[in-house]
Order: sequence, then structure tokens, then C-alpha cells
Amino acid sequence: MPERKLKKTDTQDFISEYNIPDNRHNFDRIWALLKEEYPEAKPSLNYSNPLELLVATVLSAQSTDVQINKVTEKLFEKYRTAEDYASADLRELENDLYSTGFYKTKARNIKNAAQIIVEKYNGEVPKTMEELTSLPGVGRKTANIVLSRAFGIIEGIAVDTHVKRISRRLGLTKNYDPEKIEKDLLSLARKEDLDSISMTLIYHGRKVCQARKPKCPSCIVNQLCPSSIIFMSQ
Ligand code: SF4
Repeated sequence: MPERKLKKTDTQDFISEYNIPDNRHNFDRIWALLKEEYPEAKPSLNYSNPLELLVATVLSAQSTDVQINKVTEKLFEKYRTAEDYASADLRELENDLYSTGFYKTKARNIKNAAQIIVEKYNGEVPKTMEELTSLPGVGRKTANIVLSRAFGIIEGIAVDTHVKRISRRLGLTKNYDPEKIEKDLLSLARKEDLDSISMTLIYHGRKVCQARKPKCPSCIVNQLCPSSIIFMSQ
């Protein structure tokens, strides 16, 4: 059993007290099983253009895709262009985003990002990592999603809370920082798989490897996961 290390500090991870052994040598076998298990892994945010995807992805932080889809159904009717968000009354936009959580920050970021898109990019969502991550509220996770889904540009791997948690539990990274986790995963994955890794791990995180009670006995990769023994002995 992996050695017990520190006191539990990261509730998202829920296993950070253990020193999970390096398991990168098993990545190919783990990935093959997960890919077969979730062939249907697809993004569940609704959008019909790059701007809608950008807005929906920014809103999805600390919320669920189901909740964001409810909000964006009306939002995308009301705000159709970057100019619409840029010129919106901030209080009104906050009100429109209220149920997404952290609505004040999200409203401010979306309005400010839209102003930059209008002024600097002629109203079009930019297509490079550098330009996207220069927008307020847009980190590498959001930029990776927009680049791959809206423009078919595969630059990296979007690391959200599920990807972070599962990568650590599987012993594929020892890092907590999403950018470092992305680098670790990029060093393991084949180029043709980059587009599907994030969504596949997200599916696994939602259905099986949940934050507090992972279903290790029924997990397809439990024979290859160094954390399974920890959870199954609790
Ligand atoms: S065995 Fe358990 S901890 Fe490991 S990936 Fe599966 S559900 Fe997660």
C-alpha cells in the first residue's frame, strides 16, 4: 500500500495525504481501457459559434454543464455578438448570470473580454493560445477547449477538476498546478489522442472516479490504478 504522507489538505483530490507511486509506465494500457469504455465522450455545453463556446466555457467554472446550458439558452438569445456583451450594462449582465455562481467575476470578465475582442480582433474570437489566454477570465483550460472545439486546433489538454483529480489518483502526475499536469499528460499521450483525453477523463470522473466516493470495485482501470487499494481498504 502506498505510504501515507501528509494530512489531507485538498478535498478535490481527496487522496493527497498519500504518496501515490509513479504510474506513468502504465499510461498506454490505462488510456486504451478508458478510451474503449467511453467512446461517446463528447462535450455537453451547448453552443453554435466560437463566441458562445467561449462564454459557456468561462461560465462553466464552478458550475455544471447542465446548469450552464439552462442559463445560456436565454443568454445567447439576448447577447448575440461580442459587441452585445461589450456594451451590456454590467448589473444587468450580472443578473443574467446570477445562477452560474461567481456571477460578478464572470460578468466582469466576459464584458471586459468582449471589449477586447471588439477592439482588437474585430469582433471575432481569436484563434491562438496566446491571444485567447490574454483575455480576462480565460486560462489554458478554456483556451484549449475553444481552440479544439471551435477551430479544430489541438494545442494541449484542458485540465479541469476531474482531469486533475484522476491524473493524480492514477499516478500520472504528482503536480497540483493544472499547467504542470497538462505538461505531464502531454508527455505521455499521442498527438491523435490529445483531443479526447480531457473529455474521457471528465466522463470517468463523473461516472466512476468521483471526488468523494470513487467506485473502484467497478472501475475499468482498477487493476492499473495505485489508488484503488487505498479506497477499497477504507
Ligand atoms: S480505481 Fe478508483 S481511484 Fe483509480 S481511477 Fe478507478 S475509480 Fe479512480
